[in-house]
Amino acid sequence: MQRIGELLREGEPGRRTPTPSRASTPTTEDPEVNRKTTIRASEAAAAGYDCDKPAPPPETCQFCGRTLEYMGMIFPFKPNRVFLWSPSPERCTCPEAVAYWAQKDREAEEEKKAEERRKQQEAIRARVNAARAVQTARYGPDGPACNAQMGPKELRAYCKLDEPCQKLIRGAYDRLGLTARGYDRILRVARTIADLDGAEEIQVQHLAEALQYRPPEHLRA
Ligand SMILES: [Zn+2]
Repeated sequence: MQRIGELLREGEPGRRTPTPSRASTPTTEDPEVNRKTTIRASEAAAAGYDCDKPAPPPETCQFCGRTLEYMGMIFPFKPNRVFLWSPSPERCTCPEAVAYWAQKDREAEEEKKAEERRKQQEAIRARVNAARAVQTARYGPDGPACNAQMGPKELRAYCKLDEPCQKLIRGAYDRLGLTARGYDRILRVARTIADLDGAEEIQVQHLAEALQYRPPEHLRA
């Protein structure tokens, strides 16, 4: 039933191509076999379709009083059988109902976006906390509190640059005129980006990102 639920959400009304019965449940990945069509409950009843269960009783549009039926789902592998009824009756097309559903859809969309933002913020918080824990463990109780406070000793120990990184920073040095102070700052930022990424060593993409954050006051005049 899980699979049918997915099909109901993802499927589109399409051609009804009778194919030989291959399975009793729509488990196949063949998109042609999984293509669903919809039928109104009254039409299915009139045409004598074989239904999984009786259709829910029709409802009435709260605005114009029109009868709204549930829609059944038919798949090509069993063209005479209705598998499931839609989770809600069809939507009325009177202007009031159209406006009502447009508003409802907007609200649902906004709620979905807010939920996504909440999840992203949670993920960011988790990454930041993990990166902080890595720094605390790395520097120990007597070392710097965080990457921003790394001195020359820590920079040498924890910001080793491999060949691609050295090439990148040499290019930046020549092109942008980095000062020594700006260079160290970029290493500290790159170390933090690498920590957020859960990386043991600074990699070229971390360094490239750090170079984008380089503030202008560290430019040579
Ligand atoms: Zn209506």
